[in-house]
Amino acid sequence: MESENKKKSVSSELKKKLFAKKENGAKKLSAEETAKADEFCEGYKVFLNGAKTEREAVKYTIAAAEKAGFTPYDRTKSYKPGDRVYVNNRGRAIMLCVMGKNGTKNGVRLGIAHIDSPRLDLKPNPLYESNDLAFFKTHYYGGIKKYQWPTVPLALHGVVALKDGSVIDVYIGDDENDPCFVVTDLLPHLAVEQMSKVMTKAFTGELLNVLIGSRPFNNDEESEAVKLNVMKLLFDKYGIVEEDFLSAELTMVPADKARDIGFDRSMIGGYGHDDKVCAYPALMAAFDTELPEQTIITVLTDREEIGSDGNTGMKSTYMADFIEDLAQADGMELRHVMAQSTCLSADVNAAFDPTYASAYEANNSCYINNGAVITKYTGSGGKYSTSDASAEYMAKIRKVLDDAGVLWQTGELGKVDGGGGGTIAKFVANLNADVVDLGVPVLCMHAPFEIVSKIDVYETYRALYEFYTAK
Ligand code: MN
Ligand code: MN
Repeated sequence: MESENKKKSVSSELKKKLFAKKENGAKKLSAEETAKADEFCEGYKVFLNGAKTEREAVKYTIAAAEKAGFTPYDRTKSYKPGDRVYVNNRGRAIMLCVMGKNGTKNGVRLGIAHIDSPRLDLKPNPLYESNDLAFFKTHYYGGIKKYQWPTVPLALHGVVALKDGSVIDVYIGDDENDPCFVVTDLLPHLAVEQMSKVMTKAFTGELLNVLIGSRPFNNDEESEAVKLNVMKLLFDKYGIVEEDFLSAELTMVPADKARDIGFDRSMIGGYGHDDKVCAYPALMAAFDTELPEQTIITVLTDREEIGSDGNTGMKSTYMADFIEDLAQADGMELRHVMAQSTCLSADVNAAFDPTYASAYEANNSCYINNGAVITKYTGSGGKYSTSDASAEYMAKIRKVLDDAGVLWQTGELGKVDGGGGGTIAKFVANLNADVVDLGVPVLCMHAPFEIVSKIDVYETYRALYEFYTAK
């Protein structure tokens, strides 16, 4: 018996030394740390409710950044370490920069999150009447499961640009006194044919029509009186006519506000966690960084959900152009700065969901409450279309996080060949910087109501802050 016990303790000692530790991350935090996470997330919920679109996120960011001492960047000015500037790219993407002691000489540190989220964009000719009901036609933006969007209260957000150069903000449906809008669905009684279809065929893009009115303008014999009534209301409120939809960015987003989830209030449900749940921590980390070694740049970018194309997406040159301006001010070439630069691509990953366990590989999934998740590679079909961070860079980030006691984990996006996805990491890697994804695990990703853990949101902030401020 004696020797058997000894054997056991030798094994357990060796296990302790050699095996990776796996335990519930929430157990590792003290009550004070958990309380800090909860408090941090109160601010996050305000951001989430106020920044449902990329334009709203940029507006929020500029107001908050100016309060935190950031001023618009002027490339003709010279800046000193600790100076804080921002660059607004067309109101849809924004970069915040804190000048480092060494400027760009040893590269810059980048934290990049996206502020666009899946939603239902209005088509250029959206308004129509059918059988005395008025609707908007939509073209969905980003990867959605279309069946999730009918019968969800929706709000209309966006802008209408007029030929005289003015831009009208549209924001209706979020306030409980506002009307909201809805995509209709068929009652189960009459859904025999619908319910027998596969999901992709049962809910098609052309069914995502939003109900916006039902009363005619007048009792006369005029056709399209319901459409006319809606157009009259829009004209009275915004001064727009039907043709103005041609120069608009209007979108339907879920009207609900973020809510705590669970009896323990440990999680937050809300629209657009992907990727505001990384944008907000990145923003707070930028605000809290005072005098970094290397210049730090926080980028809140657009168009990620549709492949990062476009002048406000990460395939655009806008970030590199800004870094080039900074480099030139330091007498450096952009390529020499980029080659030494490091980046955390702050984006979400799919949290393991026990109800759908077969979609995941348990050993390589990320879990709610286990902290910020590092995703070495995304992609699909044999690591296609991903940058796959190097072992050396992974080691560097591990050290930064472990030295600071940040709670973190790794995760792959689901099981091999189960699907896949991507982030902006590869576009940064293509600029010849080192990059890896780090962010928050999300349940129900891309649904109108997504779920995250408060601890994970806070630890993602800590990870970004430690990355920015590490020696
Ligand atoms: Mn994302
Ligand atoms: Mn996404």
